[in-house]
Amino acid sequence: MIAPAMNSRTDGALTYQSLGQRKALVERVVRSEQMSRLEQECTELGDLQVKLYFDRDARYRVVVEGVIEASAKLPCHLCQESVPYILRTTFNATIASTEEQAEYWSSGEESADLNIVVIEGPRLDIVELVEDELLLDLPGQVCVDLNCGNRPAMVYDDGASDAPPDQREQRDQKDKRDQKDLLEETEELVDRQLPFLGLKAALQEIGSLPTEEGEEDI
Ligand SMILES: [Zn+2]
Repeated sequence: MIAPAMNSRTDGALTYQSLGQRKALVERVVRSEQMSRLEQECTELGDLQVKLYFDRDARYRVVVEGVIEASAKLPCHLCQESVPYILRTTFNATIASTEEQAEYWSSGEESADLNIVVIEGPRLDIVELVEDELLLDLPGQVCVDLNCGNRPAMVYDDGASDAPPDQREQRDQKDKRDQKDLLEETEELVDRQLPFLGLKAALQEIGSLPTEEGEEDI
């Protein structure tokens, strides 16, 4: 008897390795209830449209670009009102299967700007892959600036150091001028005080004395 063929279309059968190898595009609608941590952060979370573009990089590591979209309402941190918001998250990740692997990859200079995520299970788990990225991308403030009545007023200090930039620049230029004048004055002062320069001037004066004429007179 032949065992029933495994249904390769179910997510459970899709390994990250094979998805990367096949440069697979996975498109799924994920029920909002499955994102339990995200659900706690908002209300009226709609189903999530998830697109995952898998590939492998030059070192055969599985990489994924994710695009996720969902509607929700988020509490404004200032007025506590629920504000309609479209969650849109795009992320790139390099998938490591162990902490050690992730650490090893992170230590390489060429990997400095990689977003390495550790996913221990070999098979695709969309919630595990995208929920953190969504949580990280939640906005700090959802009220559109002027719409939030509890937005703190912008107050500027009237202190002298807060002069507008153009005035500050003028002041800087004046300071530079003053310094230049001071420097020139100092140079004149040094000229007058240098003993050798004084001596030189004295010798010039002596040289210009009409002694020769006097000698001729004798
Ligand atoms: Zn608000």
